[in-house]
Amino acid sequence: MRFFIIVFFSFIQLFALNTPFDIYKKDTNPTQHTLLIIGGIHGDEPGGYFAPAVLEKYYKIKSGNLWIIPNLNVDSIMANNRGIYGDMNRKFNVIDKNDNDLLTVNRIKEIILDKRVDLILNLHDGFGFYRNIYEDANFNPNAWGQATIIDQEKIDDKFGNLDEIAKQVNKMVNNEGLYQDFHTFGVKNTQTKQKDEQMQQSLTFFAVTHNKPAFAIETSKNITELTYKVIYQLKSMEEFMKIMNIEFERDFDLNNYEEVKSRIYDFGKIKINDNISLDLSDLKNNLRFVPLKKEGNKFDFTHTLSKVKYNDNKYEIYVGNIKVCDLYPQIFEVANTEDKIKILVDNKELETSFGNQIDIKNDFKILKSDLRVNIIGFSKDGLDNEDEILIKRSDIQDIYSIDNNKTKYRAEFYKDGKFYGMIVLNFLKD
Ligand SMILES: [Zn+2]
Repeated sequence: MRFFIIVFFSFIQLFALNTPFDIYKKDTNPTQHTLLIIGGIHGDEPGGYFAPAVLEKYYKIKSGNLWIIPNLNVDSIMANNRGIYGDMNRKFNVIDKNDNDLLTVNRIKEIILDKRVDLILNLHDGFGFYRNIYEDANFNPNAWGQATIIDQEKIDDKFGNLDEIAKQVNKMVNNEGLYQDFHTFGVKNTQTKQKDEQMQQSLTFFAVTHNKPAFAIETSKNITELTYKVIYQLKSMEEFMKIMNIEFERDFDLNNYEEVKSRIYDFGKIKINDNISLDLSDLKNNLRFVPLKKEGNKFDFTHTLSKVKYNDNKYEIYVGNIKVCDLYPQIFEVANTEDKIKILVDNKELETSFGNQIDIKNDFKILKSDLRVNIIGFSKDGLDNEDEILIKRSDIQDIYSIDNNKTKYRAEFYKDGKFYGMIVLNFLKD
């Protein structure tokens, strides 16, 4: 009996390795400075990973180089947990060879030590509001929020004046306009080498002891509005880029709350097996009978924080720590096809391929092909194939919509028991 228990546990451990993180390199000139941004070392600190996701998607680098890892601790982000395999930020000095974070930690160490990397930022949301003198339980020297963290005053490097640089960054961020006066940033020097044994295990201390300038940026966990945190993180990162002569462009106003918010919550799309495509921003939180393969389904995303986890007979779709949808599969053989479908949309004939969405004002009719059509939520007695029927929105039961606004519906195509693909029917609002 004992033998079986041991085997069972080592089996779990073997397959519980943290999901590999992603790295995005915005290189313009390898001889110029390179800033490495690391988000998501702690899975329950969304400011620390949604900010680099916005940076990756909406910033264009004009000179210098920016490397972005938005999701270091992938499994913990999906679980909205500081560290489901323990605190990853305490594994950079000593790590057990069976640790589930071992590959992640080794891989990020290698990137930190890459000779092209000039400076490293590790992004967090921390408790309270850092102040250098005690004010109360939330505002005091033991708090971590709204602070730029350094391990020591300086190291010997061109960006080695850690204290000076951190002060300069904070000054700019504080002067640029805070949402509340008490959101002001300070420099917290943990004096890691002398005073903080815990932090001697941290990512930034690993970097600093290898003579790489490193800082942590901490927005406050006590600020519950994600948009504020993302704005503060981005402002800090922008100041570091300016100090490093990394020129950038963005297509929005960082002081405009709504513009930033709409970018944070644009979750993009998921494409499945190249024949289904769904908008994640307005998707319902569960979809049933989605035609998928038994195994080996391919999921592609446009958002850097999107991941899928198979759990309890369903696919869970995440953007960061936000579970967007539970997708319940219905198993089919899936055909690989470039077939085009002809549809009459508002009296005009058009041709489209699987995985597309078509916009409809009034009505549509899917024209005859050798495929069987199933429009989910539409039914007419005695009909198995729903092509060659003029259909308007009121002909489809709206509980079958795939979006919360009840405007998008599924048309699915089959032949000989195989699933060929889906087209999303999007009824435009009047
Ligand atoms: Zn943290």
